Amino acid sequence: MPEGHSIARFAKRHRDLLGGRKVAVASPQGRFAKGAARLDGRKLLDVSAHGKHLFYHWQRAETLHIHLGLYGKFRTFRDEPPPPTPGTRLSLSADGVTIYLAGPTVCELIMPSAEEAIRGRLGPDPLQAETDGNTADRVVEKLSRRSIPIGAAILDQSVMAGLGNIYRAEVLFLTGVNPTTPARDVPAAKIHEIWDRSVELLGRGVAEGKIVTVPGRPATRADRVYVYQRERHPCRRCGGAISMGEMANRNIWWCESCQPRQAS
Ligand SMILES: [Zn+2]
Repeated sequence: MPEGHSIARFAKRHRDLLGGRKVAVASPQGRFAKGAARLDGRKLLDVSAHGKHLFYHWQRAETLHIHLGLYGKFRTFRDEPPPPTPGTRLSLSADGVTIYLAGPTVCELIMPSAEEAIRGRLGPDPLQAETDGNTADRVVEKLSRRSIPIGAAILDQSVMAGLGNIYRAEVLFLTGVNPTTPARDVPAAKIHEIWDRSVELLGRGVAEGKIVTVPGRPATRADRVYVYQRERHPCRRCGGAISMGEMANRNIWWCESCQPRQAS
């Protein structure tokens, strides 16, 4: 599933390509035909992201809400696009640019009140940290009430919005927090560190267009991370074995010596 940095990049790209233009909207697959007819020919005002959700705002129309889920994919074409595949839920085009969307979990029109409700249910997004004050304190507050492991809690989009499976493992490694620690037992100062690392790493992901958590410019995909999918490799810091387990139905990786368990 794309993590928050990719969604933020889609928002910016779609805003740059289609914003301020009258957009031809269609649903080749037909499953969004009514919504597409409602938007067709309207001017796109803005596109914004919160965590993994995208919101498209139009002149005199409802908001288009998209969540890619596990299988959703955008494809962008300049000039002549190929014919849409049968699964193309949505097609947006203006000024020689065409964007196809297939396989999203959500593609719907919603009222402003529903958009507000969705944003209200989501935790703070590290990519909006600059415009949203005291966010780390809000995360501390949310986690203080949760007994689930911190590795599961930071994947919960109502706690923090935007982290996926790669970032959660990397952020916990970089802050030295064992993923099995109950969320409410992680000291507030550590939660602040988790937040600050998330702000830094997702920001880097937006800038570089890929998830990189090690310093510098790693040559290969396998060199870009500390623990994610590295269970067969030694820890980059201590040389010890990387552990793998399951948490919130997804695999998670960590180093027992760099991320020691709390003494109980
Ligand atoms: Zn280690």
